[in-house]
Amino acid sequence: MLVDRLTETGQFLACSRFDPHLFSSPIEFSLANGVNVAIPSPGIIQFSPANQASKDIVLSCGVHGNETAPIEICDDLVSRILRLELCPRQRVLFIFANLPAMDIAQRFVEENMNRLFSGEHANSTAAQNQERLRACELEKVVGQFFQTGTSESTRFHYDLHTAIRASKNDKFAVYPFLHGGRHSHEQLAFLLACGVNTILLSESPTTTFSYFSSRQFGAHAFTVELGKVYPFGQNDMSQFAAVIKTLEALISEDHLSLPPFDSEKMYIYRVNQVINKHHHDFKLHFEDATPNFTDFEKGHLLASETGAEYRCEFDGEAIVFPNENVAIGQRALLTVVPTQL
Ligand SMILES: [Zn+2]
Repeated sequence: MLVDRLTETGQFLACSRFDPHLFSSPIEFSLANGVNVAIPSPGIIQFSPANQASKDIVLSCGVHGNETAPIEICDDLVSRILRLELCPRQRVLFIFANLPAMDIAQRFVEENMNRLFSGEHANSTAAQNQERLRACELEKVVGQFFQTGTSESTRFHYDLHTAIRASKNDKFAVYPFLHGGRHSHEQLAFLLACGVNTILLSESPTTTFSYFSSRQFGAHAFTVELGKVYPFGQNDMSQFAAVIKTLEALISEDHLSLPPFDSEKMYIYRVNQVINKHHHDFKLHFEDATPNFTDFEKGHLLASETGAEYRCEFDGEAIVFPNENVAIGQRALLTVVPTQL
């Protein structure tokens, strides 16, 4: 009966959010087109095609519960697969990460989940909470998904977000630190096809979901920011046409044919400063509405707190993800400078 409900309505996310007990034990079934469906837990659904696949793809959304556009995009893809309107030819794992935060339309309930991966959830000095438990579960699910693929498969993880503020570069992606590994031009071409023309190269290990998949499983992994946060139902979905079409093709085609990487069409930045908040009086020295990737001159005062001033070290150094309301010890601002790949 549950299977009929899912395949008729496609409402996996709604069932996960409002009737999570339906998935209190794992379920598995096949669609009429031979695609195997496995649901290990609410908000997590894996599709495995009958044919031999060459790609293992993780699409995650809702790591921040109020970032609705990616949740709506993934919900629609899952729904269409369940209703046989879209047939996956690659293995794909969809993750709706923070279901309780979606219900209260907040970024998180207790703690920013995207600071809890690569084992940070088990950091024993912090109290247990639902974000830590979920991050631990997601690590296991992703690990199992990648490890049960064939050894020839290529691994991908796109962790889809929207930013709190507007951005001069509307859609951008964070490329996790590769520890000396080569950046993939093919992946940059893929992101450009999604409408993502700005790439930020991270230069240190971190506790994000995309770094976890990149580091632990050698996946091509990215944190992808698709625009600005709006409430459910208020997103202009036409702004996401390119990303939806490209993700559909990634899932449902044997081979993607994309225009080759063109450095002229992309803006690439490297992280220059990671500025953490150490005191309650931490203050940003620019307007709250300042868009991401706004740049300043060398020497410009960006932020201050007791005992420290943070200034631009280069002309054209730009701000990303400013948030003076983070917890003490957490990142309040990144600065980036243009680079080439
Ligand atoms: Zn986010």
